[in-house]
Amino acid sequence: MIVTSVPLINSDRLNRNIAQLAQIGKLPNGGVSRVAFTREDILARQLVQSWMIDAGMTVRIDAAANIIGTYAGKIADAGALATGSHIDTVPVAGHYDGVLGVLSGIEMVRVLHENNIVLDHPIEVIVFTDEECTVIGCKAMAGNTVNDPNYYRRNDETAIEVCLEKAGGDWSKIATAKRKPGEIAAFVELHVEQGGILENTGEAIAVVIGIVGQYRHTVTITGRPNHAGTTPMNKRKDALVAAAQVVLAVNKLGVETPGEQVATVGYLNVLPNAVNIVPAKVELKIDLRDLSQKHLDNLLSELKQQLIQIAEATKTEIVINQALHVLPTLAQAKILDAISQVCQQLNLSYSYLPSRAGHDAQEIGRFADMGMIFVPSRAGISHAEDEYTSPEQCSQGANVLLQTFLKLDRLYQA
Ligand SMILES: [Zn+2]
Repeated sequence: MIVTSVPLINSDRLNRNIAQLAQIGKLPNGGVSRVAFTREDILARQLVQSWMIDAGMTVRIDAAANIIGTYAGKIADAGALATGSHIDTVPVAGHYDGVLGVLSGIEMVRVLHENNIVLDHPIEVIVFTDEECTVIGCKAMAGNTVNDPNYYRRNDETAIEVCLEKAGGDWSKIATAKRKPGEIAAFVELHVEQGGILENTGEAIAVVIGIVGQYRHTVTITGRPNHAGTTPMNKRKDALVAAAQVVLAVNKLGVETPGEQVATVGYLNVLPNAVNIVPAKVELKIDLRDLSQKHLDNLLSELKQQLIQIAEATKTEIVINQALHVLPTLAQAKILDAISQVCQQLNLSYSYLPSRAGHDAQEIGRFADMGMIFVPSRAGISHAEDEYTSPEQCSQGANVLLQTFLKLDRLYQA
């Protein structure tokens, strides 16, 4: 039971909106396909804009095609309290990833508007462009886009210039999407957990302590191709035997190092990959994630030590190259406190969790105070058609978002 004297969101309306948006790009088995810049994505963007306007917001589209709905505050030049997420999906998706955050933001503004509540700060509800693939929307707001447009070319070869134009953006002006310091005072994103921890603990809400940083490395192991029948075992330089040891070393690093890191080898390419040849070369890719950059660096140097030992033991050559580095983003303590106080006030059980998936909030947190709220995902399933969060869990998340905004409006000097 929720006991509160402050306004609550309209749960039926929120869940109706989630179902309505899922009609756009609907798949036969109940899922959704709404890849960024497709016809379905554009239609969904139009529907969401109309909802923003009905909720009392003015809407603008920036050069990165981010949709920014603004609900004016009492103090005109105060930095915005912002929320948002994405409505594009992976090719086969469910109803909730991203969508919950955007539609809860709109529902929050509707409720304030209906109750004639105007905050000191303006509120922004943002739909970030293409979260699932290039992350161009939130990166542009942080001023972190890649200059080369070819980097953003789609799998079907469509140029980013064409994509952005379709959605109301403009590649030639992408730098103008960068937000000025102070324009956003705080950003809070509501999202489905996409993991099974909350379901296991039975808690309603996770207060996200930060979004993990990530290293991706490519490891190339060079051995000596040779006849699988005639080459004696002690004369071999078998690149795949070395690779197997690397896979186990990475897993051991994840399992046995004290901490909450995750470490994965998810890609392996064996050459020449023939049954009767001692493997000549293996390329493998390592993914390392943790909330602490220092810890990530320690894991990486430990791994590099082990690669040297494996190379020696297997008489192979091992080269490691960095392919990606994303810095962790920690949530702002003030926002963590506000969210947890709101959970207590609404009688909702909660715990603190890191996010091991990337989110738009990660980029926004590079220039503004950031926080995130998670609600449970059934069986931890996401990026799949059977992704599910109950109507009650969705509205609990939206209520936490609304109450958090009311609190932040008092906590942040307008
Ligand atoms: Zn998402």
